[in-house]
Amino acid sequence: MSDGPTPIGLPEPPPLGASALPAGTYTGSTVFITGGGTGLGKAIATEFARLGANIVIASRKSDHLEAGEQAIKDVGAKVLTVSCDIREPDHIAAAFDAATNAFGMPNVLINNAAANFPVLADEMSPNAWRTVVDITLNGTFFCAREFARRHLAAGSTGSIINVGATYAWTGGPGFAHSAAAKAGVKNMVETLAVEWGPYGIQVNGLVPGLFPHEDMTADIKGNLKGLDDKGDRQPALRTGRLRELGWAATFLASPYARFVSGHTFVVDGANWQRRSLTNPPVVTVRDQMRPPT
Ligand code: NAP
Repeated sequence: MSDGPTPIGLPEPPPLGASALPAGTYTGSTVFITGGGTGLGKAIATEFARLGANIVIASRKSDHLEAGEQAIKDVGAKVLTVSCDIREPDHIAAAFDAATNAFGMPNVLINNAAANFPVLADEMSPNAWRTVVDITLNGTFFCAREFARRHLAAGSTGSIINVGATYAWTGGPGFAHSAAAKAGVKNMVETLAVEWGPYGIQVNGLVPGLFPHEDMTADIKGNLKGLDDKGDRQPALRTGRLRELGWAATFLASPYARFVSGHTFVVDGANWQRRSLTNPPVVTVRDQMRPPT
């Protein structure tokens, strides 16, 4: 290592359970979150619950729904789980009906659900492409549309957060389907914020950097080989802590961010801006995914 200051990375955040927002910020509010039973969605839902929100978790698998339900109960909040495939507008409408019956119309929608797996673009089947785009892009739009139509009809206000990914800007070698879909999700934030702002609906994006968690699929874990040592590959010298993403979401949908709309908030310790002074040799994506033996 050269002379000079010692790299120490970005500091650790306050502990789990801490909050920048006043206790009870979301008391009386209902947050509808897709994919809220696993990973980042569960962490985001938990932070809203800690601040008093009623939580509605919508996804397909009963074990995910049960895990999400337990996490919300553990922090003492009310929770409803609804079986829903966000590719199906009818499922979404039924899930919003159930949410409204239980708690009243949701004030916040977190479009967190997405599908993803690594695959070389030339080997990707049409079905793989369609499935990821259908869930990540179409599903996000269908949920946003359902939420907005109900608020527009009622003359009530609300906040939408679309969870994105940094390869919306950079492209995502090995993830052509997901990167293209996330670019659409980010673009949708900007369009919908303008269309629905006059009716009191904020629309923002929230982009996580690398946030390892226990629910990551085997495919993704395999692609991130040795997740634990990934911290030293980032300017922050660490990966994200799940609560940091939850805090960002609870701020964006809070009364303290009412004039923030059409914005995409990146929580990644500046990782996506990283460039080297001199580029390392190119290793094809094929060889990165299947190292030659
Ligand atoms: P994850 O654990 O795989 O969660 C995906 C969730 O989406 C699951 O709960 C799944 O539940 C739900 N889902 C998938 N298809 C669905 C469908 N058709 N209908 C309804 N729900 C569906 O992923 P994650 O890592 O927490 O990621 C959450 C979000 O953050 C995603 O938008 C992802 O792109 C983004 N992100 C994550 C990272 C990271 O480091 N983890 C980095 C960048 C961006 P069911 O299986 O029960 O349906």
